[in-house]
Amino acid sequence: MDPDHARSAELAGNLARVRARIAEACARAGRDASTVTLVAVTKTFPATDIVRLARLGVTDIGENRDQEARPKFAEAERLGARVRRHFVGRLQRNKARSVAGYADVVHSVDSVRLATALGAAAAGRDRPLQVLVQVSLDGDPARGGVVAEGVAQVAEAVTGHRMLRLSGVMAVAPLSWPPADAYARLARIAADLRERYPDASVISAGMSGDFEVALAHGATHIRLGSALLGKRPPVR
Ligand SMILES: *Cc1c(COP(=O)(O)O)cnc(C)c1O
Repeated sequence: MDPDHARSAELAGNLARVRARIAEACARAGRDASTVTLVAVTKTFPATDIVRLARLGVTDIGENRDQEARPKFAEAERLGARVRRHFVGRLQRNKARSVAGYADVVHSVDSVRLATALGAAAAGRDRPLQVLVQVSLDGDPARGGVVAEGVAQVAEAVTGHRMLRLSGVMAVAPLSWPPADAYARLARIAADLRERYPDASVISAGMSGDFEVALAHGATHIRLGSALLGKRPPVR
């Protein structure tokens, strides 16, 4: 069998299962599934998978490392895939300029200093860069995110830049927490932010292992890697 066709069929099957699970979770939560954005996280997989996903209608693509994202997004575009580029990983300030050069959405802004660097890097763009404030739900800085008490300050720093748009919040559920507790807490933080900034309506929450729980708690964007693309080789 044509290996390209086999991979496309595999992705189509995975996508159909994921779409069915999204529909079920939304039905249970009394939500309209068309309001959920599926971000396919393609880290470790080739640009050709982005092309296949785009052909299947998945046009929001996430990557977590600048080194990998920059050439891969460029190659996918060269191969004809028109996608929205989401940067979902930890972002060092010295990578802000690179990421501002290709991303449409950055999910991981977690300090005033990073917001300032990204704002300066985005100044020459022809359209605004959407920014989510990444929240650390358990206060452990190891995996990125600002503590809940610091969200307002980072949000304000984002709004000070002409080419940044404050679009909402993002979190990764702490490993040791029941995801329902994590996403309920994130929903409260998101509601607080929205009171002040009504356009900041995005809640980026939920990965392959817990996205149904995130959808029950109002996630507008779910970030799925393995459920769509299959097992990743272990990161070393
Ligand atoms: C890899 C990654 C995901 C997707 O993880 P899966 O468990 O494979 O769905 C989501 N968000 C971030 C920030 C990631 O790095």
